[in-house]
Amino acid sequence: MHFDSKLPDVGTTIFTVMSRRALEEGALNIGQGFPDYPIDPELAAALTHVIGEGHNQYAPMEGVLELREQISAKLQASYGLLFDPHREITVTCGGTEALYDAIQAVVGPGDEAIIFDPAYDAYEPAVRLAGGRCVRVALAPPEFRYDWDEVRRALSERTRLIVVNSPQNPSCSVADARDLDALAALIRDRPITVLADEVYEHVLYDGRRHASVLAHAELRGRSFAVFSFGKTLHATGWRIGYCVAPPALTRELRKVHQFNTFSIVSPLQYAIARYLAGHPEVWTGLSAFFQAKRDLLAGLLRGSGFEPVPAAGTYFQLVDYGALSGETDVAFADRLIREAKIAAIPLSPFYAAPPAMTLLRLCIAKKDSTLEAAAGRLRAFAATARANR
Ligand code: GLN
Repeated sequence: MHFDSKLPDVGTTIFTVMSRRALEEGALNIGQGFPDYPIDPELAAALTHVIGEGHNQYAPMEGVLELREQISAKLQASYGLLFDPHREITVTCGGTEALYDAIQAVVGPGDEAIIFDPAYDAYEPAVRLAGGRCVRVALAPPEFRYDWDEVRRALSERTRLIVVNSPQNPSCSVADARDLDALAALIRDRPITVLADEVYEHVLYDGRRHASVLAHAELRGRSFAVFSFGKTLHATGWRIGYCVAPPALTRELRKVHQFNTFSIVSPLQYAIARYLAGHPEVWTGLSAFFQAKRDLLAGLLRGSGFEPVPAAGTYFQLVDYGALSGETDVAFADRLIREAKIAAIPLSPFYAAPPAMTLLRLCIAKKDSTLEAAAGRLRAFAATARANR
């Protein structure tokens, strides 16, 4: 039977490809973003406990109330504002489901969504499946800052959505309050919703503070904000995220969510709720925790030929290999996996039209010993590459 693919140009995500290649090549995987150290044993114990208690049937579609109440308390502690667990908070299958649901809820055929390159890979396919089209605006390297004049030029009568991501994956840049002011001013009189991917809300470096759309008086009323317990509790495999949005937007999001995943794994939600009740503010140490890892890896790589690019947030570190090779990042990443046994993520797959650049993304959410081993392999590879140049 012949059929036309709805996403003919879409392959398997670079994260999955690189993790698969790492297994094949027996490489150390510092590509896809996931921790290699254990979760808090108390969180693990909470899960077996709630399963024993009998929390094994469907959770409510919008999420377990106990968890939504904990999320509300967490938002109040983080941003000083009250969000209604009943009408403004929805638990989703990771941040990715929340992104998908929000996009399906507001983008229709012929609509445009503005996204920023290098853009996280989940945005564009969701926009296209909704019948929309992405207009891509590049963040300007080396700091990957927003150019709001360029965004203004990208706006059209058909723009319905702008997707902002801060701290930004994969560029490790961070938007500040002035960026949010500029965004608010641009869309003030237009029918545009904001989708804010804030899954790295607690991982900002060097004293920076996260500027959430939820804390922005104007943007809060027209934004979906997406968060992730995978990142906050070091448990990416649990796939528990949530979306915070005003009641009218939450209603639309839930219409999609209930027919997408319907409801999220019940015992995981109870376990997180119990754990947060016993550990309020468990996330407050995350920036310091990851900053130490960033500094460890960057310190070991500086001067090696894998030059660390200043990182403002997320649990990644970009390195520039330009001193070692002029190969494209995809070709170089492939060679690195084969020859250095290190899996890293090239940046060009996150661009509509990739500029010439020699950057790789490394994940720092790893044991110190893993980061040391990875740096050792990279330094040895760089020494050989330099000798052969
Ligand atoms: N968020 C993860 C990363 O950036 C990837 C998750 C996935 O593989 N979809 O590496």
